[in-house]
Amino acid sequence: MAHNVIAEAKRCLNCKNPSCRKGCPINTPIPQMIQMFLNGGINEAGKMLFDNNPLSVVCSIVCNHSDQCQGHCVRGIKGEAVEISSIENFVSSRYLDTVRLEKTPANGIKVAVVGAGPAGITISIKMAQLGYDVTVFESKTKIGGVLRFGIPEFRLPKSIVDRYEEIMRGLGIKIRPNITIGKAFGVEELFRDGFKAIAIGTGVTWPIALNIKGETLGHVHYGVHFLESPDSYRLGNSMIVIGAGNVAMDVARTGLRKGVKDVKVVLRSDRYSASKEEAEYAQIEGAQFIYNKAPVEITDEGVLFADTVCDGNHKVISCSDKPELMRADTVMVCISQRPSKLILSDTYGLEVNERGLAKISENGETSRPGLFASGDVVRGAKTVVEAAETSKRVVEAMHKYLQSLPKEQ
Ligand SMILES: Cc1cc2nc3c(=O)[nH]c(=O)nc-3n(C[C@H](O)[C@H](O)[C@H](O)COP(=O)(O)OP(=O)(O)OC[C@H]3O[C@@H](n4cnc5c(N)ncnc54)[C@H](O)[C@@H]3O)c2cc1C
Ligand code: SF4
Repeated sequence: MAHNVIAEAKRCLNCKNPSCRKGCPINTPIPQMIQMFLNGGINEAGKMLFDNNPLSVVCSIVCNHSDQCQGHCVRGIKGEAVEISSIENFVSSRYLDTVRLEKTPANGIKVAVVGAGPAGITISIKMAQLGYDVTVFESKTKIGGVLRFGIPEFRLPKSIVDRYEEIMRGLGIKIRPNITIGKAFGVEELFRDGFKAIAIGTGVTWPIALNIKGETLGHVHYGVHFLESPDSYRLGNSMIVIGAGNVAMDVARTGLRKGVKDVKVVLRSDRYSASKEEAEYAQIEGAQFIYNKAPVEITDEGVLFADTVCDGNHKVISCSDKPELMRADTVMVCISQRPSKLILSDTYGLEVNERGLAKISENGETSRPGLFASGDVVRGAKTVVEAAETSKRVVEAMHKYLQSLPKEQ
């Protein structure tokens, strides 16, 4: 592994105007990191990556590299792009394994972070490093959000997420698990108790329903629920996965690994929206992709699908009126997620858009002073790196806002 990583790093041309960096949504200083690594500065390289993006190690595993950094590498024009993700993974894993982050001298200002997914983790670490007294409130038993309760272990080991919890605690961040803001108490009570700013990073955790007959039957499940605890399900021998994104791919692969013999990923359109890599893994593991089929009804035997026709932009333009049954023991619905209404609809002065997502300024300020939001709860179902990138801007805005408040005597 180390040999390959070094050999890959040596292939980097250290471009003056690096296109790899332009392809990275969080502007990772890729050539600098590679040169530091090659010149004996692996710790400095790791620190630089962490400071730019605390979730660097996660991104080195789950990002869509072929569309982002690696897809933009000049080496890829005539040959093989530098495998940036492996180098970043090596450098960032080592940094995460060895780093002991110290508590920054406290400024005594309390900040609340609601949700401990990629957005909440990024905001809480960066705010704690600025000296704020951070408390994280998380519905689930542990931190991580989708990193722990969505992306399967075979793609992202949970030990990495555990390491983030250690780092957060080391920085003095207080974590309250098993507490859903909007149930026992809400944003008003947080402000009442002296939190001067609150960041909402509650993601999009509610599955979107197909809204067709049969969706409530006992063998029908939502993919995001299944991935939270796959062992709770009895799947049978055959599974239909409805959807075409990364969630559908994770569900198909998890189903196959749980022993389902026949897994069909059924798509409305003539192409998938998952990353090419994830789709290829799903296919190589045995999932069969069936295009141009729209679900019309679910029965005890399976799903009735109508044939669809797409235009040149992959948009479905017509559906046949003679649906046919595709048999399956289990049906998994994976057509995207939306935010929970808790917190968003109960918070005074917080505006949401037509999709039910928190409305924010460019810097992540919501319509209510002192209340910020980041990640999927503002952008809809997106990616880890996008949640981290928005969160960095939110941290800057929160810091500016808090420093502008009159000093308490
Ligand atoms: C199965 C799956 C696979 C994915 N694969 C990839 C991938 O390979 N690469 C990639 O880049 N992206 C992937 N994504 C998308 C990525 O995981 C998300 O974009 C990212 O997690 C968003 O981060 P977030 O912090 O906004 O939300 P989340 O990760 O959803 O975290 C939100 C957190 O808030 C908590 N919460 C919600 N409501 C409350 C409340 N009221 N009070 C307290 N806590 C609350 C939730 O329990 C959760 O822990 C995937 C998503 C899924 C579902
Ligand atoms: S574009 Fe490729 S070769 Fe150039 S700096 Fe980036 S990784 Fe190195």
